Amino acid sequence: MSSGDKLFDRLLNRQTPTLSAVVDSPVVPGVGLQLHLDGEAQVTHLTGPLRHLLAQQLSTTRTPHLLDYLLPHSALAVEGLPADWQGQLLDLDFFSLAGPPLHLRGWVQPLGDGWVLQLLDIGDLLSERRQAHSREQCQWLAAQIRDHLRLCGLARLPQVLGEQLQCLSQRFQVPCLAVALLDEETEGWQIHQHYSAPDAPQLWDTAQRLGTGLDSLNGAAPQRVLPAEHPRLSSVFGPAEGFAVPYRDAHGVAAWLLFGCFSTQPHTADLNDHDWLQLAAAVAAPLLERLREHRHHLQLERLEILQSLLGTGWWEMFSDSAQVLLADALAVSLGLSAGRLPIQDWFARVHPADREELRSRLQALQDEGQPLELCVRLQPDDQAQPQWFRLQGQSLGIGAERRLVGFMLDISDIKNQQQQAAAAHARLDNLIASAPAVIYVQRYVEGALQPTFFSASLQPLLGWSLADCADGALVNHVHPEDRAAYFERTRQLLREGSVSTRYRMLDTQGNVHWLLDEAKLLRDDLGLPVEAVGLWLDVTDATLAAERIKTSEERYRILVEDSPAMICRYRPDLTLTFGNRPLAMYLECAPEQLPGVNLGSWMSNEQREAFVERLAQLTPDAPVSSAEINLRLPGREHAWWIWSDRGVFDEHGRLLEVQAVGRDNTEVRRSQQQLTQSAKMATLGEMATGLAHEINQPLNVMRMAIVNVLKRLSNGDVQIDYLTDKLNRIDAQVQRAARVVDHMRVFGRRSEIEQHPFNPLDAIEGTLSLLSEGLRGKGVELRIGEANFQVQVRGYVDQLEQVLINLMVNARDALLSKRESNRDFQPWIGVRAEHDEHVVRLWVEDNGGGIEPRLLERIFEPFFTTKPVGVGTGLGLSVSYGIVENMGGRLSVRNGDDGARFCIELPIALDDQITSVARPD
Ligand code: ADP
Repeated sequence: MSSGDKLFDRLLNRQTPTLSAVVDSPVVPGVGLQLHLDGEAQVTHLTGPLRHLLAQQLSTTRTPHLLDYLLPHSALAVEGLPADWQGQLLDLDFFSLAGPPLHLRGWVQPLGDGWVLQLLDIGDLLSERRQAHSREQCQWLAAQIRDHLRLCGLARLPQVLGEQLQCLSQRFQVPCLAVALLDEETEGWQIHQHYSAPDAPQLWDTAQRLGTGLDSLNGAAPQRVLPAEHPRLSSVFGPAEGFAVPYRDAHGVAAWLLFGCFSTQPHTADLNDHDWLQLAAAVAAPLLERLREHRHHLQLERLEILQSLLGTGWWEMFSDSAQVLLADALAVSLGLSAGRLPIQDWFARVHPADREELRSRLQALQDEGQPLELCVRLQPDDQAQPQWFRLQGQSLGIGAERRLVGFMLDISDIKNQQQQAAAAHARLDNLIASAPAVIYVQRYVEGALQPTFFSASLQPLLGWSLADCADGALVNHVHPEDRAAYFERTRQLLREGSVSTRYRMLDTQGNVHWLLDEAKLLRDDLGLPVEAVGLWLDVTDATLAAERIKTSEERYRILVEDSPAMICRYRPDLTLTFGNRPLAMYLECAPEQLPGVNLGSWMSNEQREAFVERLAQLTPDAPVSSAEINLRLPGREHAWWIWSDRGVFDEHGRLLEVQAVGRDNTEVRRSQQQLTQSAKMATLGEMATGLAHEINQPLNVMRMAIVNVLKRLSNGDVQIDYLTDKLNRIDAQVQRAARVVDHMRVFGRRSEIEQHPFNPLDAIEGTLSLLSEGLRGKGVELRIGEANFQVQVRGYVDQLEQVLINLMVNARDALLSKRESNRDFQPWIGVRAEHDEHVVRLWVEDNGGGIEPRLLERIFEPFFTTKPVGVGTGLGLSVSYGIVENMGGRLSVRNGDDGARFCIELPIALDDQITSVARPD
């Protein structure tokens, strides 16, 4: 007998009946179903309460057969005829009007000429059997799930959970499954993980929020809940059917297992609520445990990272054993061993200065539970810099359970920064206090700025203090004329955020200070003004100096503009950059037209070369040079300017610009020339006597020759040779006279404008051609030194002749006047020339007795003469002096052994200064 049969017996309340007993039992018309059959198993009659449930499959036109009532698989059990079935238990499934088949068990008994099939309902029995089986399965499944979830690695947990959900889905044919856990943050429920069968729509998403709807079921439903019964669940299930199973732990419902399905009813009928709760627990309990484990693990990791990042760590003190336990990282960083160690070891790392305090505070923590908070220095080893730690500690628990724990935080960075900031602050304070400027802060109050701070430099500068500025009194210290400017400064500061201006302030003595005020406005996050920070710099000296410079510049400008002198600036290439009015007037243009004009354009090539040459001599050490320059100006033949140049140099000594002042010297020049000319004429006049003699001499020679020739002609004694000789002599004398006259003409002419190079020996020769005959005629011996050289000097040859003539005429006068008193006197005049590398010297001396020493320094003065009125003019030496000087030379005199000795010293013109035209062949 199977276990199912035993259950059947129990259900029927029988004492282990035998099969024969069963089949012999009488027909009970009020119980179950009785089918009356004929010998062919055709149903003749139906009785019993179950007959109303039967559904007959075939038409009612013929007598129904037993098979017409049976589900096809049951037809196998009733093969043959009723007589064959006697003594057998028949389990038959009938079509039922209610839908599910009717499970009936029974036997056949003969009745009259037919048979009766007595049947009883065994549907409940079967379902109970199935349930017991399913429960067994369910328990086995739960154990499986629990094991899988418990034993898998943490990393595989999601995958294993998914697999278990899939397994449940397949086992119970529930297409959608999900585990919902409480989300601690939102305190609502959240899908932790879900599974959807491949052909099912996805009901839930991972991390989907379910709200707090499930909470309301907590107390009311320790078991399976259906959406239909709890309308709040419909939001969780949406369009699907299904149910939710809670998992409870010590704190209440900790998880829900959600089962969702669609049209077809899941095969869940075999399980009861307890089974479902068991399944939910199988999933949720290990899952929650693993998640807690995971969280704990993460927290530990975080704590460790935090400790190592912050240089911090916990400590715990065991006062009974005088030991301390430090977090591993902390122990390592302090160079201590891990695990418990004597407190003394820990104290040994604390800086001696902090050790006693720490000890006493730890004692207070231990004795009175007074929380500990202390900053101490710790030294990991002897060499290292001590590090600052914040040490905090608390006592936890009471009595024997009491623990002393705390943590240490490395705050060296903060401490160092604090120290640096303090040092910087001190430096800044010092700087502000010793600043040459006054630093101030003004607070913004309802549109006005009120002083709230002045640096200490205010007192020495202005004598008043912050207190003197209360209630808007600052403006009283502003110079009355500048108050409007001060208010405008405040307005501009508020409007534009910064200002830089200067105004005058009065100190306590009433002295005026020019202050440069530079201020900036600071605003808060909303852009509203908070305060102005600024500084006052005393710029009195600079301001006054600038004013002085301005006025002096103005004066200088007026001076330059109004000066009668020509003032200009020009570049080294002679281009003017500025010229004043007088210069413009000379150049016949407006002052504005001067810049750009080239000064050289008014000079001859020679002049310009000499000018540029002179500029080239300027150096930063000798930046000034003067000269008389000669220009050809528009509308004027020649102009002489006394010109003074000052070079302006850059740091490399290169000439940048020349500033020049000039004065017109043309008139002076002209008078000088006229003077020279008149002096020359005077010389000529004086020489007229000599000249007459000079010309008479050849005339006499010619007359004698002509007289002699005429005498010979009248005698008829004329030879060609004699005649030729006489005529040649006459010709020579004519030439001699012509030379004298020619030279006179040349000498009488005005001097050239420009200087030319010439050999000074030419001047000596010219002079002698004029004077030698006359002097000899007067009995004066000429001692002419031998000289033959080719050096050149620059100037005017006729003017040098004039100087020589003057000197020789003066010598002659001195000699003749001496001979008047001494008839035996032998007068002579010496003329000689010599030169060295740089200068040529021409000497004119006589034996006239010299010049009285006290007159020596006066003889070059104009109009100084010792000669009788009408004889001397007193101009000869002064003009000569001017001529020699004009040629760059010097005329000097001293008394020699016999008489006066004059020396003309002239610079030799260098070869490259001699133009090709003037260079002698
Ligand atoms: P002037 O000949 O018309 O007097 P100068 O200027 O030529 O004017 O000479 C000035 C003076 O210098 C002369 O009057 C004379 O006294 C003196 N003097 C010039 N040359 C000689 C000389 N060789 N010996 C003596 N006295 C001289």
